[in-house]
Amino acid sequence: MTSKTMEELVSLCKRRGFIFQSNDIYGGVKGLYDYGPMGVELKNNLKQSWWKSMVYERDDIEGLDATILTAPDVLKHSGHEDTFSDPLVDCKSCKSRWRADQLVNQACPHCKSKDLTDPRPFNLMFKTSIGPVDDGSNFVYLRPETAQQIFINFKNVLDSTNRTLPFGIAQIGKAFRNEITPRNFIFRVREFEQMELEFFVEPGSDDKWHQYWIESRYKWWIEQGINKDKLELIEVKNDDLSHYSKSTVDIMYNFPHGKEELEGIANRTDFDLGSHTKNQQEFDISSKVIKNNKSTTKLVIQNIANKKWFVPYVIEPSAGVERGVLALLNEAYKEEKIDEKNSRIVLALKAHLAPIKAAVIPLKRNNEQLVNEAKSIKSNLQKIGLGRVILENSGNIGKSYRRHDEIGTPICITVDFETLENKTVTVRDRDTMKQKRLGPNELKNYYEKYFN
Ligand code: ATP
Repeated sequence: MTSKTMEELVSLCKRRGFIFQSNDIYGGVKGLYDYGPMGVELKNNLKQSWWKSMVYERDDIEGLDATILTAPDVLKHSGHEDTFSDPLVDCKSCKSRWRADQLVNQACPHCKSKDLTDPRPFNLMFKTSIGPVDDGSNFVYLRPETAQQIFINFKNVLDSTNRTLPFGIAQIGKAFRNEITPRNFIFRVREFEQMELEFFVEPGSDDKWHQYWIESRYKWWIEQGINKDKLELIEVKNDDLSHYSKSTVDIMYNFPHGKEELEGIANRTDFDLGSHTKNQQEFDISSKVIKNNKSTTKLVIQNIANKKWFVPYVIEPSAGVERGVLALLNEAYKEEKIDEKNSRIVLALKAHLAPIKAAVIPLKRNNEQLVNEAKSIKSNLQKIGLGRVILENSGNIGKSYRRHDEIGTPICITVDFETLENKTVTVRDRDTMKQKRLGPNELKNYYEKYFN
């Protein structure tokens, strides 16, 4: 096995239909990517795995799917209008623009000139106009994180579910950031998805819950197939903390381009609910929040013992779907020697993440009986409902194996003339390449066991 480069991953992603440059036929737009037939399955499987572990397998988390378009008041009180910016510098020589905090030796990465402007804050939020009049006054933001919509729905969820602390609200959805220098493939992009949990707790129990979520999230990434040796937990230094955070621990991953953040787990204290609540003066809000005259709702909960209403603290594990996909592809991609002359590329994804669960391959492309038998096997396995099963009607078994190794299909099922006689098929395992002959019931059991 050799170690892979970003170029190898990019090439596999294009060749096999995982990820394409967005708006490609018109020259492309920087920092935007589209997910192809395999990419959309992988992404959906990752999101589903997160949702299962957060919502279905627990009894203290509810789901939410809120809007992307966000009223300016929300992002004013969240602090994003004032502080969600990166320091921007212009190179006076070649006119390119860069993030000041990412420069090496204070030189332009493009032309190496040191003749740069002073850094100035550049707000990363995208705006768009809303309604029929586009005079600049009627605008909304495209949310820069999914979290704020969770905070402003706190009371809706609380009242409709009768929750008490601690409880969480989970959401997966798009977020948008006008990154100054998008780069490293899908690592830093301008449109991406986040998997965010806001877990509301009693003030005083926040440190304990913060630690709990750091450990739980670290473990989850390992369960998705990330090698422990490529992960590191790093406490964000005080100077680098976001405006809302008391303490943040980042889960860092060793991406092909270097060690960077995969997920952040922040103790956001009572900053967000305290910022968005009505009648702030009635409550003991420990964070520094700006005065809110617009909110119509108290974002508080009652202490059953002393009957006092208070603003909960919140712990936030926030993970990027794209960064997850990149890390998983990097882990799974392997080039293996088969024998003296031949090698193969195999994507050893965990079975639950594999875009295609099984490929059913008729030995001959145009043989009606073989194709019909293959279709029936495909349809029976598809009905089990564990993910996409595909009919691979290429007529070339060797080529089909190669393709399915590269997209990470765990099981290939070949339908041949013996199948027509006794219903047995050849099953090939992606990782061991071993083949065995199974009857119809054995195949069903093998398949269910593999994915459950
Ligand atoms: P970075 O420091 O790398 O810009 P961040 O600290 O701004 O990231 P957060 O605001 O904590 O990121 O966002 C939570 C998660 O969302 C990140 O851990 C990351 O996985 C994802 N994310 C943030 N910005 C981007 C982006 N531009 N492209 C892809 N994913 C992103």
